Amino acid sequence: MAFQRKLQIVPLEEWGFTAHNGPYVIAGPCSAESREQVLSTASGLKAIGIDVFRAGIWKPRTHPGSFEGVGSAGLDWMSEVKETLGMKIATEVASAKHVQECIEHGFDLLWIGARTTTSPFLVQEIAEALKGCDIPVLVKNPVNPDMDLWIGALERLNNCGIKKLGVILRGFSTFEKIAYRNDPQWQYAIELRSRYMELPFFCDPSHLGGKREYVGEISQRAMDLGLDGLMIEAHICPECALSDAAQQLSVPEIDDLLTKRLQTRQNDSDAPSWKDNIDQLRAQIDILDEKIIHILSQRMRISRKIGEYKKDNNVAILQTGRWDAVLAEAIRKGTGLGLDEDFIRTIFTSIHNASVDAQK
Ligand code: PEP
Ligand code: MN
Repeated sequence: MAFQRKLQIVPLEEWGFTAHNGPYVIAGPCSAESREQVLSTASGLKAIGIDVFRAGIWKPRTHPGSFEGVGSAGLDWMSEVKETLGMKIATEVASAKHVQECIEHGFDLLWIGARTTTSPFLVQEIAEALKGCDIPVLVKNPVNPDMDLWIGALERLNNCGIKKLGVILRGFSTFEKIAYRNDPQWQYAIELRSRYMELPFFCDPSHLGGKREYVGEISQRAMDLGLDGLMIEAHICPECALSDAAQQLSVPEIDDLLTKRLQTRQNDSDAPSWKDNIDQLRAQIDILDEKIIHILSQRMRISRKIGEYKKDNNVAILQTGRWDAVLAEAIRKGTGLGLDEDFIRTIFTSIHNASVDAQK
């Protein structure tokens, strides 16, 4: 990026929401399905102290024929949640029409979904429809890991006067199958956070993990990285949900997570800046270590494949010319990046020995 534009951001503490035992929490079903489901889920969540209720009204589904949301009919149910329970209401918008209908129905927060963030046309349309509104807007990361597309969406909204602006990390699509539904790429959070320290930062462990069982560990990681809030899918009967049934929590499950399992970090203002906090630095190290392990396993897989080709073609396993070149290149690149030559030699010798063993 040639130059970095400053964003004008109203701090999260001034948005009128309450932090829930540490993080700010937005919770509610993936989709609004019926008046009863919306009101009963909301009152369950209200009873455990959640003040911002989410539900998808218009659902961007990957395949046609999946439940695509109840549409505008669900807006009145959301208004009822606001009027009868006094909760703040939030939903996803993907067009100017959605924005207008939400404003008319008194919504307190809107978010832009991962698929919409990929489209500058749609983001611009939404941003223009929001001109003159003081409503908070959260922008989910685009499905593809493109930092500039994500930042571009923030700039478009900011240019149209949206200053209660924040982001949600929900992970990135991958071709390769991984345990989580989406790849967290936590380094994006770290990078974005260090570029825009003032930007409110949420994590969506539900879409990131794709399964109930992962919601706790992902939420914990988000807290360890010093993120501000969580958007969690919760349903009065998760297994009956019409969309994303596998990843939604019941009301007691979300209560248990927030009150008993989640370790929140002290976010005190006397602490040194975010990046200097030892817990957060350790969390960054953990992420890099995970990546190292992943890359080593990929490298080993390729190495075994090479071993098979060598066998098929009757070629010796150890080819010193190739190994000398690999090591020399690693030392050249590594020392150029400030790493010690002996350190690189030790690591690469050990990787090489393991590869030779794997080819035997
Ligand atoms: C959602 O929050 O319901 C949703 C569709 O999320 P995403 O845009 O992250 O896929
Ligand atoms: Mn969902």
